[in-house]
Amino acid sequence: MKVLKFGGTSVANPENIHKVKSIVAQADNDQIAVVVSAFGGITDLLLNTSRLASTQDLSNKEGLKEIEDRHLSAVKSLIPVQSQSAVLSHVKSELNTLETLLEGSYLIGEITPKLSDKIVSFGELLSSYIISEFFKAEGLDASFKDSRELIKTDSNFGKANVDFQLTNANCQAYFSSNAKRITVLPGFVASSKSGDSTTLGRGGSDYTAAILAAAMDVELLEIWTDVSGMYTANPKLVKQAKCVANISYEEAMELSHFGAKVLYPPTIQPVLGKEIPIAIKNTFEPDSPGTLIAKNSNGNGKTVRGISHVGNISLLSLEGPGMVGIPGISKRFFETLSLKNISIVLITQASSEHSICVGISDDDVDLAAEAVNETFEYEIASKKIKPVMVEKDLTIVALVGDNMKSHQGLSGKMFSTLGKNNVNIRAIAQGASERNISAVIKKDDVKKALNSLHEAFFEENIKQLNLFVMGVGNVGAKFLDQIRRQKKYLKEELKLNIRVIGISNSRTMAFDENGIALKDWESDLANGESANREAFFQKVKSLNYRNSVFVDNTASAEVSNTYPDYLKNSISVVTCNKIACSSDFDYYKNLKHLAKQYNAPFLFETNVGAGLPIIDTLKHLIASGDKVKKIQAVLSGSLNFVFNTFNDSVTFHDVVKEAQEQGYTEPDPTIDLSGVDVMRKILILARESGHQLNIEDIANESFLPKESLETNSNEAFFASLKKYEADFQQLYNEAAASDCKLKYLAQFENGKAKVGLQKIPKGHDFYNLEGSDNIVLFFTERYPNQPLIIKGAGAGADVTASGIFADIIRIGNF
Ligand code: ADP
Ligand code: ASP
Ligand code: MG
Repeated sequence: MKVLKFGGTSVANPENIHKVKSIVAQADNDQIAVVVSAFGGITDLLLNTSRLASTQDLSNKEGLKEIEDRHLSAVKSLIPVQSQSAVLSHVKSELNTLETLLEGSYLIGEITPKLSDKIVSFGELLSSYIISEFFKAEGLDASFKDSRELIKTDSNFGKANVDFQLTNANCQAYFSSNAKRITVLPGFVASSKSGDSTTLGRGGSDYTAAILAAAMDVELLEIWTDVSGMYTANPKLVKQAKCVANISYEEAMELSHFGAKVLYPPTIQPVLGKEIPIAIKNTFEPDSPGTLIAKNSNGNGKTVRGISHVGNISLLSLEGPGMVGIPGISKRFFETLSLKNISIVLITQASSEHSICVGISDDDVDLAAEAVNETFEYEIASKKIKPVMVEKDLTIVALVGDNMKSHQGLSGKMFSTLGKNNVNIRAIAQGASERNISAVIKKDDVKKALNSLHEAFFEENIKQLNLFVMGVGNVGAKFLDQIRRQKKYLKEELKLNIRVIGISNSRTMAFDENGIALKDWESDLANGESANREAFFQKVKSLNYRNSVFVDNTASAEVSNTYPDYLKNSISVVTCNKIACSSDFDYYKNLKHLAKQYNAPFLFETNVGAGLPIIDTLKHLIASGDKVKKIQAVLSGSLNFVFNTFNDSVTFHDVVKEAQEQGYTEPDPTIDLSGVDVMRKILILARESGHQLNIEDIANESFLPKESLETNSNEAFFASLKKYEADFQQLYNEAAASDCKLKYLAQFENGKAKVGLQKIPKGHDFYNLEGSDNIVLFFTERYPNQPLIIKGAGAGADVTASGIFADIIRIGNF
């Protein structure tokens, strides 16, 4: 004999019920019990409708109408016309009884647990009857049996306890004389010894099937549902979750107890003693192997087998000096909860005995708090114990696995993973069996916690980075293009899965929680909502993804002012915008501090020398104990381009114009020409070398006339360049006369920095610096005479984008 159970989604509509029939028809056992749930959604509807009736809300009629329609239309669709009338009349008569019960509740204005069970049992009673008639109509050798006649319970309505002795005897007697090969039975429902309908708890159809399987000592119990087995985490919340092929009873029980709804927790108990294996299968993909739950199921030495969570948890804590060393406090505490029939999901007690903390359902917490405060009334009044503390809206996440006990470091990895992602842990517990490590966290963090734990324990090779990109102009567009082209390589070779979740320019912003398709980002953005920095940040924060990175490709001070918001939420920041790092020293320092405190890297390699690895090299020098003595550099690609191109046969004005057109200058070219851009860069290098400098500390002798410096539009600026052409020609001629080239230098030595135009003689390291190249010479304790030199293209959208990319990869390796 075999028992098959089909859940709510599997029987939600006639189309699905046809799939169920094909699965049942293929079983070749001599006897088959088919346990079915109510049609998907009907149990909730029944409960909701009866609640409305009991509060004398007339809209309960609408609920009843929906229940009627679902069942009547199922009959019409499944049963051939010639045999429909008998089935319809039975279903209608059941629906009439249901209506009468609801009316009764409406009139009295209340609903007892006993009446609720009676009402809710109609879901399974109707579905099983209709399915059995459908099977018969399809020519299967099938019959219907009301489980209430077999499964006997106490009168604990809502979640009744089974009398196994009576139940087993009833089942054995019935099946030994049943002539039909297939028996269809309602799940979830049972009856008390006095004959009232009872139910086995939400999700209880699994349990019904297990009770029958154990009573008949069958060879296999099959649970058919809407997913292909028991997964490493709830596949609806964790996309990367994988099906677990084999799992032990204990592990499956632990996972289901901690929220893996795919199996109702009590289901395992009846079959465990008889070692009947349970197969979890997908009605919609019957050929997928699914999961086999069995004794000592082989986990191939894997430690963590699954991650699950239970929501709607509150923490109740009792604390106070009067608890230390006083026997009986815990006993009174737990007794109080037990007397109120409140079940405890998790317990932690500090070893100082200063506090006891339990996790219980949100629904029970008010009652529990009141009862505990009453029990300890005397101690509270005499200030030995504080009134009980309550914290609501929490969730427990748990790692589960049989082999966890023999491995150290798992809880460390669990908590550090959560910590890195800014998930605050409110309480922790480790089962004495060491089959489970649980953490209580805020409900809003659940998805992030599950996904980051899943990544840490099951996808050790692949790390997902979630990018939020602000600024998609020259540099931003190139950056998105580079990611698109490298995505596959990064995944395969570096095990990094990079997804761009949000993008924004100054006009619009767009988000796609599954990752924006990078070939279409322009149209996504064009159709996006109107841009707003605060709304962008709020969205990033509320999505609450692990490994989130904010990428700033703008040159905006307002954007750079938002970095602390991101960092404080453990969102990394990568920026080519120099404003933050060259603004007030305290601001720069605070950003670095926040990055450390919240475990969120703050990277800005492109602030100096675009894609050249200047800051990274400097960081490595400092970290390995070297000390910077002097820095000499040409740090402005724009000025280098300008002075490499300028001579006595072109005008200075035209050269600057060309530099602007080729994208070598900032949008406002005075920032480059005045030397401010170079000042910012040497300031950042000085700060990264460990010096506390501000922009005012840097000497800048500008070669531009005062009038050009003071213009306030691009037109006025270019006009002034024309006006002073003779001065610029003179600068050139003086240099040329002494066989020198003009270079705009930045220098830092003995804690002092300066920038300015200089004549560079032939043979100098800087003399042959081409086009828009940059060069940096680091003179350090280890490189005192021959400096460490970094040289290469130091401006341009492509190299800047690749520098940002390099920072993203650094975060991936973090
Ligand atoms: P049924 O109606 O068939 O009894 P349930 O809705 O009770 O189905 O259980 C199946 C659901 O359990 C899945 O759709 C999935 O969302 C959820 N679930 C939670 N955790 C897990 C897990 N670890 N593996 C598989 N499914 C899970
Ligand atoms: N129909 C019941 C419920 O929704 C029992 C079950 O489906 O397992 O809880
Ligand atoms: Mg279920």
